[in-house]
Amino acid sequence: MILTLKSGSSKKEVDRVIKKIKKFGYRPHVSRGVDVTIIGMIGERAERYRDTFEAMESVDHISEIEKPYKLASREFKKENTIVNAAGIKIGGKTVVIMAGPCAIETREIALETARAVREAGAVIFRGGAFKPRSSPYTFQGLGEKGLRYLADVKKRTGLPTVSEAMTTSQVALVGKYCDIIQIGARNVQNYDLLKEAGKQRKPVLLKRGMATTIKELLLSAEYIMSQGNYNVILCERGIRTFEDATRFTLDLNAVPVLKKATHLPVVVDPSHGIGIREHVAAMAKASVAAGADGLILEVHPRPEEALSDGPQSLLPEQFAKLMQELKVLAGAVGRNI
Ligand code: PEP
Ligand code: MN
Repeated sequence: MILTLKSGSSKKEVDRVIKKIKKFGYRPHVSRGVDVTIIGMIGERAERYRDTFEAMESVDHISEIEKPYKLASREFKKENTIVNAAGIKIGGKTVVIMAGPCAIETREIALETARAVREAGAVIFRGGAFKPRSSPYTFQGLGEKGLRYLADVKKRTGLPTVSEAMTTSQVALVGKYCDIIQIGARNVQNYDLLKEAGKQRKPVLLKRGMATTIKELLLSAEYIMSQGNYNVILCERGIRTFEDATRFTLDLNAVPVLKKATHLPVVVDPSHGIGIREHVAAMAKASVAAGADGLILEVHPRPEEALSDGPQSLLPEQFAKLMQELKVLAGAVGRNI
Protein backbone atom coordinates (compact mmCIF):
# COMPACT_ATOMS: atom_id res chain seq x y z
CA MET A 1 0.00 0.00 0.00
CA ILE A 2 1.35 3.45 -0.90
CA LEU A 3 0.43 6.51 1.13
CA THR A 4 0.88 9.83 -0.60
CA LEU A 5 0.93 12.66 1.92
CA LYS A 6 -0.46 16.12 1.27
CA SER A 7 2.06 18.45 -0.29
CA GLY A 8 3.95 20.46 2.25
CA SER A 9 3.29 18.03 5.14
CA SER A 10 5.47 18.87 8.13
CA LYS A 11 8.07 16.52 9.54
CA LYS A 12 5.87 16.02 12.56
CA GLU A 13 2.97 14.87 10.37
CA VAL A 14 5.22 12.52 8.40
CA ASP A 15 6.57 11.08 11.65
CA ARG A 16 3.06 10.49 12.93
CA VAL A 17 2.23 8.37 9.87
CA ILE A 18 5.49 6.45 10.19
CA LYS A 19 4.80 5.75 13.84
CA LYS A 20 1.37 4.36 13.05
CA ILE A 21 2.75 2.12 10.31
CA LYS A 22 5.29 0.72 12.77
CA LYS A 23 2.62 0.30 15.44
CA PHE A 24 0.76 -2.07 13.11
CA GLY A 25 3.95 -4.07 12.66
CA TYR A 26 4.90 -2.86 9.18
CA ARG A 27 8.09 -1.35 7.89
CA PRO A 28 7.70 2.12 6.34
CA HIS A 29 9.63 2.93 3.16
CA VAL A 30 9.84 6.69 2.90
CA SER A 31 10.59 8.62 -0.30
CA ARG A 32 10.81 12.34 0.26
CA GLY A 33 10.28 14.41 -2.87
CA VAL A 34 10.78 18.16 -3.07
CA ASP A 35 7.21 18.76 -2.07
CA VAL A 36 5.47 15.43 -1.62
CA THR A 37 6.36 12.55 0.67
CA ILE A 38 5.37 9.05 -0.32
CA ILE A 39 5.39 6.25 2.24
CA GLY A 40 5.25 2.60 1.30
CA MET A 41 3.57 0.37 3.85
CA ILE A 42 4.80 -3.00 2.73
CA GLY A 43 3.69 -6.31 4.04
CA GLU A 44 0.92 -8.83 3.99
CA ARG A 45 -2.62 -7.47 4.07
CA ALA A 46 -1.59 -3.87 4.68
CA GLU A 47 -4.83 -2.83 2.96
CA ARG A 48 -6.89 -3.78 6.01
CA TYR A 49 -5.61 -0.57 7.61
CA ARG A 50 -6.59 1.57 4.64
CA ASP A 51 -9.49 3.29 6.43
CA THR A 52 -7.32 4.18 9.44
CA PHE A 53 -4.76 5.93 7.26
CA GLU A 54 -7.33 7.52 4.99
CA ALA A 55 -8.76 9.21 8.08
CA MET A 56 -5.44 10.89 8.85
CA GLU A 57 -5.38 14.58 8.00
CA SER A 58 -1.94 14.49 6.37
CA VAL A 59 -2.74 11.60 4.02
CA ASP A 60 -3.75 12.80 0.57
CA HIS A 61 -4.50 9.47 -1.06
CA ILE A 62 -3.72 5.77 -0.87
CA SER A 63 -3.05 3.31 -3.66
CA GLU A 64 -2.52 -0.40 -3.54
CA ILE A 65 0.20 -2.34 -5.34
CA GLU A 66 -1.44 -5.27 -7.07
CA LYS A 67 1.79 -7.14 -7.82
CA PRO A 68 3.22 -9.65 -5.33
CA TYR A 69 6.52 -7.76 -5.50
CA LYS A 70 6.06 -4.29 -4.10
CA LEU A 71 9.27 -2.29 -3.64
CA ALA A 72 10.57 -3.62 -6.96
CA SER A 73 7.45 -2.64 -8.89
CA ARG A 74 6.97 0.35 -11.18
CA GLU A 75 3.81 1.07 -9.21
CA PHE A 76 5.94 1.75 -6.14
CA LYS A 77 8.44 3.90 -8.03
CA LYS A 78 7.84 5.31 -11.51
CA GLU A 79 11.30 6.64 -12.29
CA ASN A 80 14.16 4.31 -13.20
CA THR A 81 16.44 3.48 -10.32
CA ILE A 82 20.02 4.39 -11.01
CA VAL A 83 22.41 2.21 -9.04
CA ASN A 84 25.73 3.82 -8.25
CA ALA A 85 28.59 1.34 -8.09
CA ALA A 86 31.71 3.23 -7.00
CA GLY A 87 30.79 6.12 -9.29
CA ILE A 88 29.52 4.06 -12.22
CA LYS A 89 25.82 4.68 -12.75
CA ILE A 90 23.76 1.71 -13.88
CA GLY A 91 20.21 2.29 -15.13
CA GLY A 92 20.70 5.68 -16.83
CA LYS A 93 21.24 6.59 -20.47
CA THR A 94 24.68 5.02 -20.61
CA VAL A 95 24.83 1.28 -21.26
CA VAL A 96 27.32 -0.04 -18.71
CA ILE A 97 29.77 -2.68 -19.89
CA MET A 98 31.21 -5.10 -17.34
CA ALA A 99 33.84 -7.53 -18.56
CA GLY A 100 36.51 -9.89 -17.34
CA PRO A 101 37.29 -13.55 -16.93
CA CYS A 102 34.80 -16.05 -15.57
CA ALA A 103 37.10 -16.72 -12.62
CA ILE A 104 40.07 -14.95 -11.11
CA GLU A 105 42.89 -17.39 -11.85
CA THR A 106 46.11 -15.49 -11.23
CA ARG A 107 46.93 -11.88 -10.37
CA GLU A 108 48.68 -11.50 -13.75
CA ILE A 109 45.82 -12.81 -15.89
CA ALA A 110 43.33 -10.69 -13.96
CA LEU A 111 45.39 -7.55 -14.47
CA GLU A 112 46.14 -8.32 -18.12
CA THR A 113 42.43 -8.86 -18.83
CA ALA A 114 41.38 -5.78 -16.87
CA ARG A 115 43.78 -3.57 -18.80
CA ALA A 116 42.56 -4.96 -22.11
CA VAL A 117 38.86 -4.53 -21.34
CA ARG A 118 39.37 -1.05 -19.89
CA GLU A 119 41.27 -0.05 -23.03
CA ALA A 120 38.30 -1.22 -25.10
CA GLY A 121 35.81 0.74 -23.00
CA ALA A 122 34.57 -1.56 -20.21
CA VAL A 123 33.88 0.35 -17.00
CA ILE A 124 33.50 -2.50 -14.48
CA PHE A 125 35.73 -5.55 -14.11
CA ARG A 126 34.17 -8.95 -13.43
CA GLY A 127 35.73 -12.14 -12.06
CA GLY A 128 34.62 -14.87 -9.70
CA ALA A 129 36.60 -15.81 -6.61
CA PHE A 130 33.94 -18.21 -5.35
CA LYS A 131 32.77 -20.31 -8.26
CA PRO A 132 29.53 -22.31 -8.31
CA ARG A 133 30.76 -25.18 -10.50
CA SER A 134 28.56 -28.03 -11.69
CA SER A 135 31.28 -30.53 -10.82
CA PRO A 136 33.06 -30.62 -7.45
CA TYR A 137 36.23 -31.81 -9.24
CA THR A 138 36.69 -28.63 -11.26
CA PHE A 139 38.34 -25.33 -10.25
CA GLN A 140 36.33 -23.82 -7.40
CA GLY A 141 37.93 -20.37 -7.37
CA LEU A 142 40.72 -18.78 -5.34
CA GLY A 143 38.46 -17.63 -2.52
CA GLU A 144 39.65 -14.62 -0.52
CA LYS A 145 42.97 -14.57 -2.38
CA GLY A 146 40.98 -13.97 -5.57
CA LEU A 147 39.14 -11.12 -3.90
CA ARG A 148 42.49 -9.55 -2.93
CA TYR A 149 43.56 -9.75 -6.58
CA LEU A 150 40.31 -8.03 -7.54
CA ALA A 151 41.02 -5.22 -5.08
CA ASP A 152 44.51 -4.97 -6.54
CA VAL A 153 43.10 -4.75 -10.08
CA LYS A 154 40.86 -1.91 -8.97
CA LYS A 155 43.80 -0.09 -7.40
CA ARG A 156 45.90 -0.40 -10.55
CA THR A 157 43.24 0.17 -13.21
CA GLY A 158 40.61 2.23 -11.40
CA LEU A 159 37.92 -0.23 -12.52
CA PRO A 160 35.22 -1.02 -9.94
CA THR A 161 34.66 -4.76 -9.57
CA VAL A 162 31.87 -7.32 -9.38
CA SER A 163 32.24 -10.79 -7.88
CA GLU A 164 29.96 -13.56 -6.66
CA ALA A 165 29.03 -14.48 -3.10
CA MET A 166 27.59 -17.98 -2.71
CA THR A 167 27.01 -18.07 1.05
CA THR A 168 25.80 -15.63 3.67
CA SER A 169 29.27 -15.31 5.18
CA GLN A 170 30.76 -14.50 1.78
CA VAL A 171 28.48 -11.46 1.40
CA ALA A 172 30.50 -9.27 3.79
CA LEU A 173 33.76 -10.69 2.46
CA VAL A 174 32.97 -9.90 -1.18
CA GLY A 175 31.62 -6.52 -0.05
CA LYS A 176 34.92 -5.78 1.69
CA TYR A 177 36.94 -6.13 -1.53
CA CYS A 178 34.47 -5.46 -4.36
CA ASP A 179 31.96 -2.84 -5.44
CA ILE A 180 29.10 -5.06 -6.57
CA ILE A 181 28.08 -8.36 -5.01
CA GLN A 182 26.85 -10.89 -7.53
CA ILE A 183 24.25 -13.47 -6.60
CA GLY A 184 24.47 -16.19 -9.20
CA ALA A 185 21.81 -18.08 -11.12
CA ARG A 186 22.08 -21.08 -8.82
CA ASN A 187 21.41 -18.99 -5.74
CA VAL A 188 18.65 -16.69 -6.96
CA GLN A 189 16.18 -18.39 -4.62
CA ASN A 190 18.53 -18.83 -1.68
CA TYR A 191 16.45 -16.63 0.57
CA ASP A 192 18.90 -16.41 3.46
CA LEU A 193 21.56 -15.23 1.04
CA LEU A 194 19.19 -12.67 -0.46
CA LYS A 195 18.33 -11.33 2.99
CA GLU A 196 22.00 -11.07 3.91
CA ALA A 197 22.67 -9.11 0.71
CA GLY A 198 19.75 -6.89 1.68
CA LYS A 199 21.18 -6.09 5.08
CA GLN A 200 24.22 -4.38 3.65
CA ARG A 201 24.23 -1.48 1.19
CA LYS A 202 26.58 -2.45 -1.64
CA PRO A 203 24.87 -2.92 -5.01
CA VAL A 204 23.74 -6.47 -5.76
CA LEU A 205 23.81 -7.97 -9.25
CA LEU A 206 21.04 -10.55 -9.08
CA LYS A 207 21.15 -13.13 -11.85
CA ARG A 208 18.03 -14.88 -13.03
CA GLY A 209 18.06 -18.60 -12.36
CA MET A 210 17.99 -21.02 -15.25
CA ALA A 211 14.49 -22.12 -14.16
CA THR A 212 13.22 -18.91 -12.62
CA THR A 213 10.26 -17.01 -14.00
CA ILE A 214 10.42 -13.25 -14.36
CA LYS A 215 7.98 -12.93 -11.46
CA GLU A 216 10.15 -15.13 -9.25
CA LEU A 217 13.22 -13.05 -10.15
CA LEU A 218 11.35 -9.92 -9.07
CA LEU A 219 10.30 -11.59 -5.84
CA SER A 220 13.94 -12.45 -5.19
CA ALA A 221 14.83 -8.79 -5.74
CA GLU A 222 12.04 -7.95 -3.30
CA TYR A 223 13.76 -10.10 -0.66
CA ILE A 224 16.87 -7.95 -0.94
CA MET A 225 14.93 -4.69 -1.02
CA SER A 226 12.69 -5.67 1.89
CA GLN A 227 15.83 -5.56 4.06
CA GLY A 228 16.48 -1.97 3.04
CA ASN A 229 18.96 -2.37 0.19
CA TYR A 230 17.42 -0.84 -2.95
CA ASN A 231 20.63 -1.12 -4.96
CA VAL A 232 19.60 -4.13 -7.01
CA ILE A 233 20.58 -4.77 -10.62
CA LEU A 234 18.71 -7.58 -12.39
CA CYS A 235 20.51 -9.81 -14.87
CA GLU A 236 19.08 -12.04 -17.59
CA ARG A 237 21.59 -14.83 -18.26
CA GLY A 238 19.66 -17.50 -20.13
CA ILE A 239 17.15 -20.11 -19.10
CA ARG A 240 16.84 -23.87 -19.66
CA THR A 241 14.65 -24.88 -22.55
CA PHE A 242 14.47 -27.99 -24.75
CA GLU A 243 17.06 -26.40 -27.04
CA ASP A 244 20.49 -27.97 -26.72
CA ALA A 245 22.35 -26.30 -29.59
CA THR A 246 23.31 -23.54 -27.16
CA ARG A 247 24.30 -23.65 -23.48
CA PHE A 248 21.12 -21.83 -22.37
CA THR A 249 18.38 -19.90 -24.15
CA LEU A 250 18.96 -16.19 -23.64
CA ASP A 251 15.49 -14.87 -22.86
CA LEU A 252 15.65 -11.38 -24.29
CA ASN A 253 11.88 -11.15 -23.83
CA ALA A 254 12.77 -10.57 -20.20
CA VAL A 255 14.38 -7.20 -20.95
CA PRO A 256 11.34 -5.20 -22.09
CA VAL A 257 9.05 -7.16 -19.77
CA LEU A 258 11.24 -6.38 -16.76
CA LYS A 259 11.75 -2.76 -17.78
CA LYS A 260 7.98 -2.32 -17.74
CA ALA A 261 7.40 -4.22 -14.49
CA THR A 262 10.21 -2.72 -12.44
CA HIS A 263 12.21 0.47 -11.97
CA LEU A 264 15.39 -1.54 -11.32
CA PRO A 265 18.19 -1.63 -13.92
CA VAL A 266 18.28 -4.69 -16.17
CA VAL A 267 21.52 -6.04 -17.58
CA VAL A 268 22.20 -9.07 -19.78
CA ASP A 269 24.90 -11.74 -19.70
CA PRO A 270 25.14 -13.05 -23.26
CA SER A 271 28.25 -15.11 -22.45
CA HIS A 272 26.42 -17.60 -20.25
CA GLY A 273 23.21 -17.03 -22.21
CA ILE A 274 24.46 -18.63 -25.40
CA GLY A 275 27.70 -20.18 -24.17
CA ILE A 276 29.45 -20.11 -27.57
CA ARG A 277 32.20 -17.53 -28.15
CA GLU A 278 31.40 -17.13 -31.85
CA HIS A 279 27.82 -16.08 -31.10
CA VAL A 280 28.29 -13.93 -27.99
CA ALA A 281 28.68 -10.70 -29.98
CA ALA A 282 25.37 -11.19 -31.83
CA MET A 283 23.50 -11.66 -28.57
CA ALA A 284 25.33 -8.78 -26.90
CA LYS A 285 24.14 -6.49 -29.70
CA ALA A 286 20.62 -7.92 -29.52
CA SER A 287 20.59 -7.23 -25.77
CA VAL A 288 21.41 -3.55 -26.26
CA ALA A 289 18.80 -3.32 -29.02
CA ALA A 290 16.26 -4.86 -26.62
CA GLY A 291 16.89 -2.11 -24.07
CA ALA A 292 19.41 -3.58 -21.65
CA ASP A 293 21.00 -1.09 -19.23
CA GLY A 294 24.26 -2.98 -19.32
CA LEU A 295 26.10 -6.13 -20.33
CA ILE A 296 28.32 -8.48 -18.39
CA LEU A 297 30.73 -10.34 -20.65
CA GLU A 298 33.42 -12.95 -20.17
CA VAL A 299 36.80 -12.12 -21.68
CA HIS A 300 40.03 -14.11 -21.36
CA PRO A 301 43.39 -13.47 -23.04
CA ARG A 302 43.91 -17.21 -23.62
CA PRO A 303 40.48 -18.85 -23.42
CA GLU A 304 41.88 -22.29 -24.26
CA GLU A 305 43.78 -22.17 -20.97
CA ALA A 306 40.91 -20.75 -18.90
CA LEU A 307 39.99 -22.73 -15.79
CA SER A 308 36.30 -22.11 -16.38
CA ASP A 309 34.04 -21.03 -19.24
CA GLY A 310 36.82 -20.72 -21.83
CA PRO A 311 34.51 -21.76 -24.72
CA GLN A 312 32.29 -18.72 -24.16
CA SER A 313 35.03 -16.22 -23.32
CA LEU A 314 35.83 -13.57 -25.91
CA LEU A 315 39.42 -12.82 -26.85
CA PRO A 316 40.38 -9.23 -25.99
CA GLU A 317 40.46 -8.28 -29.68
CA GLN A 318 36.99 -9.72 -30.23
CA PHE A 319 35.78 -7.76 -27.24
CA ALA A 320 37.34 -4.56 -28.58
CA LYS A 321 35.65 -5.04 -31.95
CA LEU A 322 32.32 -5.73 -30.26
CA MET A 323 32.66 -2.55 -28.20
CA GLN A 324 33.00 -0.50 -31.38
CA GLU A 325 29.84 -2.04 -32.78
CA LEU A 326 27.97 -1.62 -29.52
CA LYS A 327 28.79 2.09 -29.45
CA VAL A 328 27.15 2.58 -32.85
CA LEU A 329 24.19 0.43 -31.89
CA ALA A 330 23.66 2.21 -28.57
CA GLY A 331 23.43 5.51 -30.45
CA ALA A 332 20.78 4.07 -32.74
CA VAL A 333 18.55 3.21 -29.75
CA GLY A 334 19.02 6.53 -27.97
CA ARG A 335 21.70 5.34 -25.57
CA ASN A 336 25.42 5.70 -25.33
CA ILE A 337 28.37 3.63 -24.16
C1 PEP B 1 29.33 -16.33 -13.71
O1 PEP B 1 28.98 -15.14 -13.82
O2 PEP B 1 30.48 -16.74 -13.95
C2 PEP B 1 28.30 -17.32 -13.34
C3 PEP B 1 28.61 -18.42 -12.70
O3 PEP B 1 27.07 -16.95 -13.76
P1 PEP B 1 25.66 -17.67 -13.56
O4 PEP B 1 25.37 -17.64 -12.10
O5 PEP B 1 24.73 -16.83 -14.37
O6 PEP B 1 25.78 -19.09 -14.11
MN1 MN C 1 31.28 -18.07 -16.03
